[in-house]
Amino acid sequence: MQTLTLPSPRPRGPLHRLWTAPTTLVGHAVARLLRCEGPFPVGAPEHGATLYLLRRARGLGAIALGHVIIADPGLLRGASAPWILAHELSHTRQHDVLGPLYLPLHGLMQAVSLLAWTVSRPPGFSPIHAWNLLERRFLCVPIDPLVTSGARLPPDHPVLQAFAVADWSPPR
Ligand SMILES: [Zn+2]
Repeated sequence: MQTLTLPSPRPRGPLHRLWTAPTTLVGHAVARLLRCEGPFPVGAPEHGATLYLLRRARGLGAIALGHVIIADPGLLRGASAPWILAHELSHTRQHDVLGPLYLPLHGLMQAVSLLAWTVSRPPGFSPIHAWNLLERRFLCVPIDPLVTSGARLPPDHPVLQAFAVADWSPPR
């Protein structure tokens, strides 16, 4: 399995809130524009996020916009749901570091991955994930186990415990 790392606590204080507020506000605004269900808290208090669920599938999958996660309904109902949430929560930790650079860098890395995809296509990966370092290297839970391990993902892995999603169930 790809290297998994436990999350460190999120920095606290007004400067960090200022650093992360713009992208998180974008996330809340997008969720409201899409008329999502929520907000629902998700994850441990020291590195959690706000979850919104789309009211119907839009082929979006799940996306982290700052400290906001927006997900298709149904995606978070299967056995892989805790792993999907841990992956998205890993993106929120990237956002703690990157702040306002988070969205532009993700866009850039997706474009790089799309270009590299024309040359080499690792099986199972989407064009925007295949060569994207922000999806496969610089995060606690890379997308790799979700792509390559499928139903064999362990339900009680320490990284799921650390993100407090091992026992996650969809909000009613
Ligand atoms: Zn991702």
